[in-house]
Amino acid sequence: MTAPEALKKYFGFDSFRGRQQEIVEHVVQGNNGLVIMPTGMGKSLCFQLPALIMTEPSTDRQNRRSLGLVISPLIALMKDQVDTLQRKEIDAQFINSSITHEERLDRYQKLHDGDYRLLFVTPERFRKPEFLDAIGNRKICLLAVDEAHCISQWGHDFRPDYSRAGEIRQQLGSPPTIALTATATPEVQQDIVKQLRLEPDEIKLFHQGIDRPNLALNVREVWGEDEKLQAIEEVIQKHPGSGIVYFTLIKTLERFSDLLREKGIKHLRYNGDLDPRRRKYVQEQFMNLPNRLVLATNAFGMGIDKAEIRFVVHADIPNSMESYYQEIGRAGRDGLDSECLLLYEQADLQTQMEFIKWSNPDAEFYRRVYDFLVHEGEQVEAFGFDWLRERLLDRNRHDRRLETTLAMLERWGALEMSYQPLSIKIVDKLPTQLQDQARLEQKLLTDQRRLMALVNYAKCEEDRKQFIHEYFGIED
Ligand code: ADP
Ligand code: MG
Repeated sequence: MTAPEALKKYFGFDSFRGRQQEIVEHVVQGNNGLVIMPTGMGKSLCFQLPALIMTEPSTDRQNRRSLGLVISPLIALMKDQVDTLQRKEIDAQFINSSITHEERLDRYQKLHDGDYRLLFVTPERFRKPEFLDAIGNRKICLLAVDEAHCISQWGHDFRPDYSRAGEIRQQLGSPPTIALTATATPEVQQDIVKQLRLEPDEIKLFHQGIDRPNLALNVREVWGEDEKLQAIEEVIQKHPGSGIVYFTLIKTLERFSDLLREKGIKHLRYNGDLDPRRRKYVQEQFMNLPNRLVLATNAFGMGIDKAEIRFVVHADIPNSMESYYQEIGRAGRDGLDSECLLLYEQADLQTQMEFIKWSNPDAEFYRRVYDFLVHEGEQVEAFGFDWLRERLLDRNRHDRRLETTLAMLERWGALEMSYQPLSIKIVDKLPTQLQDQARLEQKLLTDQRRLMALVNYAKCEEDRKQFIHEYFGIED
């Protein structure tokens, strides 16, 4: 079956987007690929379709053993993808910690018996002997590593378990491998290849930028909130239609929301602190109705693939070039003129520098939290999270070091945490990586560099698209 035939058969689409066909064919022929493509452009298809072609039920009964294995970091994304595939009657499944023990055993059995053509797992799954047993019976025809930037400790969302991807790949008999991400600088690209235990000449790079001539990339330097408000109003008036205005802090978002409401400008509000029902409601309103304006923090974005977004304004500077690039990628997907406006105020830089500092605790702080939890773990369960904060930090609401530390300890497998009821348990020794002060400082520096890149972008007088492409190593 050819790639276009398979596209029609499984997805009902008439044509590929961008370089999808080239990528699919490259992988089906047994080659490795690194795909860098903006969010919402269709990376999933680049591994789903090859996996389906490679597991076509043919007379060759071998195929019942063939399986496309997808490593993905986010449990929620996994379920969404599998739901979508199952609706198309594709035999896909996921196995992760969100399902019951019985369900898991059932899926292991089916996996062993040759069910499923596409299976989604987190890399942690490879620690479980039952899983290894079940998958040992299958031939992995394709390994896909989604959100591959998580492999790199210099990427913006490092997941320690992802650093085992290379080992896993070899364990599976080095099947054709495709790694995918929306953003990776040349440095991160090289790291992904290295972590996959591949040589640079064994993997082909498919790098696609936001190739949308319809996007106007503008920057406006502002002083104070009045000027910001005025700039936002001008954009709203200039572009009838839907748009997003991003803010860093919820309290600023709310202040601007009040100001716009006073002026009679209707809009939605979205931030990560809203309860899930409200979040879903706002998202649906925005997605399904025309001419919607939303004021949001960076929590807004996953699953936003509305085609007719006329403008994306950043009222505050985001934390990195990577984030900015992702967020403006939501504008103008329908090909009509759209504006991406960054409001640059020097004072906002301070806020982001602080955030970066808080998300990079030093070795001493990791040690302090770890020791505290070892000795006082039970008290935390009794007295709660705020109590823990007070024990470990001064009273600075923006200080996120504790949250970062818990998240990192959890990612490294040293801590197990659940929220309702609150339970925090140390289950392993303090990871040496979190005690390596030189490494931690390097990470802080990398984060600061990503922010500085955005400052340079703001100051760039020439072709801004060119600036972005150079940063991400995209060849025009
Ligand atoms: P990404 O992973 O790059 O963020 P997805 O793979 O989630 O993007 O795809 C985004 C949307 O684009 C999905 O709804 C998908 O069905 C759709 N899509 C992908 N490829 C095509 C295509 N060739 N034709 C039509 N729609 C497509
Ligand atoms: Mg994706």
